[in-house]
Amino acid sequence: SRTPVTVTVTGAAGQIGYALLFRIASGQLLGADTPVRLRLLEIPQAVKAAEGTAMELDDCAFPLLAGVDIFDDAAKAFEGANVALLVGARPRTKGMERGDLLEANGGIFKPQGEAINAGAADDIKVLVVGNPANTNALIAQQHAPDVPAVRFTAMTRLDHNRALAQLSKKAGVSVSEIRKLTIWGNHSATQYPDVFHAEIAGKNAAETVNDQAWLENDFIPTVAKRGAAIIEARGASSAASAASAAIDHVHTWVNGTADGDWTSMAVVSDGSYGVPEGLISSFPVTTRNGEWEIVQGLEIDDFSRARIDASVNELSEERDAVRKLGLI
Ligand code: NDP
Repeated sequence: SRTPVTVTVTGAAGQIGYALLFRIASGQLLGADTPVRLRLLEIPQAVKAAEGTAMELDDCAFPLLAGVDIFDDAAKAFEGANVALLVGARPRTKGMERGDLLEANGGIFKPQGEAINAGAADDIKVLVVGNPANTNALIAQQHAPDVPAVRFTAMTRLDHNRALAQLSKKAGVSVSEIRKLTIWGNHSATQYPDVFHAEIAGKNAAETVNDQAWLENDFIPTVAKRGAAIIEARGASSAASAASAAIDHVHTWVNGTADGDWTSMAVVSDGSYGVPEGLISSFPVTTRNGEWEIVQGLEIDDFSRARIDASVNELSEERDAVRKLGLI
């Protein structure tokens, strides 16, 4: 049998963690022939709850689950990690300024970056889910100088999936008929879901839909504000869909994108499409053999340019703010 892959999950006792761990253990993250060993990180007061989740994982008798260990120390939790899912973060609470939020998260993601640098496996792949995800990923990456920067990514796959769902409803087609959708920029309300390069059943999606008012006034704001709409309806933030997107992100990264398609991932910019180098921003990417590549050569019209710029400017401001706080 194959050697287990070590997957470290932070915030394991949270609601995304609860939706995520069972799917990882069942083989949906890496594939049905890959055993996994889980290492769970929690803050001390949540360790007991994580132990409860681990008991339930035992009780599922997953054939692929090689073991579960629980830690409240990042240095231990990331030892030997091949995949790290950074879900735990400090949520914004009432009256909290953005600077306070970034500072609180710096206190989490700096030591985690250091721990990944010190102890993770050579092939470590990191996905940051905890918000503000792009900038948290940047903080962790900056404190892991021995790990290639390309291994640090942040999640915009949920936005991508939300956009797929909205577009499939509008066009009356299955999501499987839609290709080449892109989320650009920050995982925040400024993100830009781009359908101008997308295809529905092989034809240009924007032309097929042919409804600019819907695109501007319905589609883009619906995708960007979906998180708030879920909270309003459910009385709690999205968890199962966020976990599902995290599974998709890593699965695609490891197993590759289909020919003639791409996905959305927030990755370290090399300056493509005018996004300042070093920012962790969402792009159209293809993946193959466990490596991603930004899709090159797309024509960006003025409508898209303005929206990409607005979201990327927000990322630059967040980077400036964490620099000023001495977090990077
Ligand atoms: P959730 O599991 O619901 O959310 C975890 C993080 O994911 C939050 O930062 C949340 O951001 C973010 N997120 C990103 N995308 C989405 C999305 N589409 N929908 C919802 N959330 C999204 O939070 P809980 O409070 O239930 O659990 C967090 C856990 O993390 C707790 O158990 C806590 O103890 C733990 N924690 C662990 C740390 C560690 O291991 N060192 C550090 C800090 C916390 P947003 O807040 O913007 O919704």
